[in-house]
Amino acid sequence: MSKRFAAAAAMLMLSCVLNAESPAQAALQRLSAAIQIKTIGERPLSPEGEAAFRDFHALVQTAFPQVWSLRDEVPDAAYSVLYRWPGRDPELAPLVLLAHMDVVPVEASSASRWRHPPFSGARVEDAVWGRGALDNKASVMAQLEALNALLSEGFVPRRSVLLAHGHDEEVDGRDGAARLAAHLEARGEKAWFTLDEGGAVTRGIIKGIDKPVATIMVGEKGYVSVRLSASGTGGHSSTPSQDTAIFRLAEALTALQAAPMPRRLIPPVAGMLDALAPEMPWAAQLLIRQRWLFEPLLLAQLDKSPTTAALVRTTMAPTLLQAGIKDNVLPNSADAVLNFRLLPGDRIEDVLEHVVQVIDDERVAVSLEPEFSTQAPPLSDADSEAMQVLRDAVGEVFPEALIATGIVLATTDNRHYASVRENGYYFAPFNYGTTTAAQIHGIDEHIGTQEYLRMIEFYRTLIRRVAG
Ligand SMILES: [Zn+2]
Repeated sequence: MSKRFAAAAAMLMLSCVLNAESPAQAALQRLSAAIQIKTIGERPLSPEGEAAFRDFHALVQTAFPQVWSLRDEVPDAAYSVLYRWPGRDPELAPLVLLAHMDVVPVEASSASRWRHPPFSGARVEDAVWGRGALDNKASVMAQLEALNALLSEGFVPRRSVLLAHGHDEEVDGRDGAARLAAHLEARGEKAWFTLDEGGAVTRGIIKGIDKPVATIMVGEKGYVSVRLSASGTGGHSSTPSQDTAIFRLAEALTALQAAPMPRRLIPPVAGMLDALAPEMPWAAQLLIRQRWLFEPLLLAQLDKSPTTAALVRTTMAPTLLQAGIKDNVLPNSADAVLNFRLLPGDRIEDVLEHVVQVIDDERVAVSLEPEFSTQAPPLSDADSEAMQVLRDAVGEVFPEALIATGIVLATTDNRHYASVRENGYYFAPFNYGTTTAAQIHGIDEHIGTQEYLRMIEFYRTLIRRVAG
């Protein structure tokens, strides 16, 4: 335990004693303490990074000794932790709640723009402030709070309840979530369902819908980056041939922009439209209700804005461009990197085939970027019994919200569990308003006091409904 942490732990204990009359205040203080520990997701972990994760473990051990004692040893999962609360009926598949302890760093240049310092855990303006307040320490801590509360009430779950807390989600989860999933696989375990971040209670996000919408996602997009490497005749720029690498690359890019991957309506997106239709203007309702007839029109409509376009197709974003060394030298090659986010059903191979076919030029080499790629995991069942229980829990805690399905546009740790679960869902019970997107991985990340307490309530309710 580092000195800095020892002091923080002492403060935490003291404040818990002082606030003994208010469990809510104590929970908020624990979230604040969690935010103050700089568990930055990075690979490899620096010595400070390793110390931070040890401090985080010590915080959990101090705050929730009973939960901490439920750990499964997973030695090769580094700082990721798997908590196992055994159920009365070993025949029942477990519930696995996911969350990640790591956070993205704060750029030095932006730290001063925060209203309250990013690792202060400040409890002001009726909120708790800092990196991780939403993504994703609130989920980590709220799940621990819920488990701890149920344990102390003497609740005994019917089916096992597992918490799987990763330490490297922000750098792809391969040393954390992937190892925890492999551990479950080795034990021959299959979750009834996993629940991770990705959906939320959106407020004012969907145009024309005033009511809050709780989005329970049933899948996530895949990820791949593709490099185009165009070759051409190099030499002096005073006598250029038309066969230049840069023009060749430009032609390839123009062709690709004109021929995006085909769009289509996948079931969870159709389900989302169905759920929202009653709140929409008459014309939109008609398009959705009669989509056997109007699907092309509906797809064209959704394709108009970047967020809804991402729901109906594999997107392509040119992100890197490299060529040339000097203004009077023609380069022999020119490269571009395109980042694709795969709609479930489209495979990495499909993207490569599409790119090669559209470019149709042997002098543009097409290759996968090696760092990171992942297929979209299979979609989960939006009508399963598990989904119904999840819907009921969301409805109980957020009675004001419509409930809709959908897919997560980013990647999450949940994909690593695809082979060790019946279904995987995505919902973190916090509010996602118009300013939230700028806070996650941005500045002024914070969570409202009542909002956080409701998160704890949600996980408690869910565990009771799933395992009661
Ligand atoms: Zn996250």
